[in-house]
Amino acid sequence: SKAKLFDEKTDTRTSFKDVAGLEGAKEEVEEIVEFLRNPDKYTSLGGKIPKGALLVGPPGTGKTLLAKAVAGEAKVPFFSLSGSDFVEMFVGVGASRVRDLFKQAKDKSPAIIFIDEIDAIGRARGKNNFTGSNDERENTLNQLLTEMDGFGTNTNVIVLAATNRADVLDKALMRAGRFDRQIYVDLPDIRERKEIFEVHLRPIKTAETLDLDFLARQTPGFSGADIANVCNEAALIAARKEQKAVSRQDFLDAVDRIVGGLEKKNKIIT
Ligand code: ATP
Repeated sequence: SKAKLFDEKTDTRTSFKDVAGLEGAKEEVEEIVEFLRNPDKYTSLGGKIPKGALLVGPPGTGKTLLAKAVAGEAKVPFFSLSGSDFVEMFVGVGASRVRDLFKQAKDKSPAIIFIDEIDAIGRARGKNNFTGSNDERENTLNQLLTEMDGFGTNTNVIVLAATNRADVLDKALMRAGRFDRQIYVDLPDIRERKEIFEVHLRPIKTAETLDLDFLARQTPGFSGADIANVCNEAALIAARKEQKAVSRQDFLDAVDRIVGGLEKKNKIIT
């Protein structure tokens, strides 16, 4: 159903304060916030506001979060769908969903459209055709391209799309006037991990002052999502033990648990 596919809300709750690290990426999307807030300022001199930008990076690094923060900062509605929703869809349904989504966003503009896992629909056409369901995917992709070409520069809808496989995307997506900007969202370094801990410790009742540098050192290779998981897991561990607050040891146990999970995941992949 529509309700399941489109997650439209005026997401004023997510802001740049919720996004730790990612300074470069934040700077780039700040410009998009500006465009959405004051479109006339830019178009009055004959400039064209970009229609789309691609957020590229590994899973769990905050691409969705960043897109939501753009909508939140600009105070515009956030329409989202995931490329994986289009897998195994009946003929014609994917394209009509895309058409619907753009229509809804245009009606409520200025607005952000977010397409997660765009590689699921945006893979280069005519390649990797193992599944036999490629026709429908191509229809969906073609509809997306048509929609992006169709809306004028004064539509004030900006499409953000996320992928961890920019290399497999159809080059047509990256052409001028489509997703012609790429914004890299990388795994956090040690300093950024510390900042991500700070964000996710906000709601947690801790028993002692935690050494965040230490926690950041204990979590190399962790994504923002992994760190959010650590904080949540630590709170659950403490609660299970009937504690009144979360201790340093609970965090270390949570790190171990997440490391265990990551190792398992990697084993399956390789
Ligand atoms: P995927 O590619 O798997 O969809 P993603 O890059 O879109 O991942 P998000 O869904 O934005 O990642 O991240 C998941 C959660 O991890 C966020 O809701 C947030 O709680 C946490 N998180 C990730 N990155 C950051 C960050 N830079 N700062 C704060 N929290 C983060």
